[in-house]
Amino acid sequence: MGNINWSELSFGYMKTDYNVRCYYRDGKWGELEVSSSEILNIHMAATCLHYGQEAFEGLKAFRGKDGKVRVFRMDENGKRLQASSQGVVMAEFPVDRFEEAVRKVIKLNERFVPPYGSGASLYIRPLLIGLGAQVGVAPAPEYMFLVFVTPVGPYFKSGFKPAPVCIMRSYDRAAPQGTGTIKVGGNYAASLAAGRKAQGKGYVAVLYLDPKEKKYLDECGPANFFGIKNNTYVTPASNSILPSITNKSLQQLAEDMGLKVERRPIPVEELATLEEAAECGTAAVITPISKIDDLDENKSYIFSENGKPGATCVKLYNKLQSIQNGDESDPYGWVKIIE
Ligand SMILES: *Cc1c(COP(=O)(O)O)cnc(C)c1O
Repeated sequence: MGNINWSELSFGYMKTDYNVRCYYRDGKWGELEVSSSEILNIHMAATCLHYGQEAFEGLKAFRGKDGKVRVFRMDENGKRLQASSQGVVMAEFPVDRFEEAVRKVIKLNERFVPPYGSGASLYIRPLLIGLGAQVGVAPAPEYMFLVFVTPVGPYFKSGFKPAPVCIMRSYDRAAPQGTGTIKVGGNYAASLAAGRKAQGKGYVAVLYLDPKEKKYLDECGPANFFGIKNNTYVTPASNSILPSITNKSLQQLAEDMGLKVERRPIPVEELATLEEAAECGTAAVITPISKIDDLDENKSYIFSENGKPGATCVKLYNKLQSIQNGDESDPYGWVKIIE
């Protein structure tokens, strides 16, 4: 792979050698199948195409200084895919088979795992979709689980540098008791219009408010939100946000660094009291927020004016990354070595 410029990779798709697939037919999952095709041949009346019966996951593998490949908390992704499957009534893929498929797809594409120190990683994208010809609205008779990989660089071009975010009350990504807590494509389709509008105004993301009252912070489209104040890590509790594994990990790290952790509804006005603010997720890792412009109320909350992330964000970022790539020991059992 002499021709991949690892340190210049963006968060995009690059063809790799193989993907792994598994079909659910006649009430049971079959064997894992290896494919070198990037194409799916599916029925035009499949439920995933018409009625959004699909869910996905995203996780990363990292190469360490020792050359070993480590994958981060894949059991959590496997469990979350099951929760998403329950949410849109799909056959659940067993967590042990999920881990087996992830190991297999990484091993088959090992030459695409970026080298240590490049800042890049191998992004792993599991997908579960409803198949079979069906026009009436009902769960599909058949399902396909698929996992592919692609090497990626940072999600935001700016990388680990504070970036601006906005609040717009005229958009929601999920309903109050809807699909916000599961990882389904429909939430993303619902966020595209707001995202495009925000990007047109120079923001990297929209910070959504709770869809019921518009009083509390929810999350940033594809990433959770957290803030730091008075030696406390605060992150929203809500019925319409996705339980981020990165956020869950950061809460543990924050606690072990001696911070207090609060997961509770956060009123919008509380932004004025935060010392640091950031987005977090597998793709975003930690992306510090420079300012949040409330476009409806004409208010700005400023967190960084010198282009530098806050000290606590830096500490959390370094700690998380060194556990992920094996620079530091992993007392939590989060990392699994692929051999
Ligand atoms: C995937 C996702 C996140 C981040 O979750 P991680 O497990 O940390 O990758 C946050 N918000 C939404 C809406 C997501 O889909």
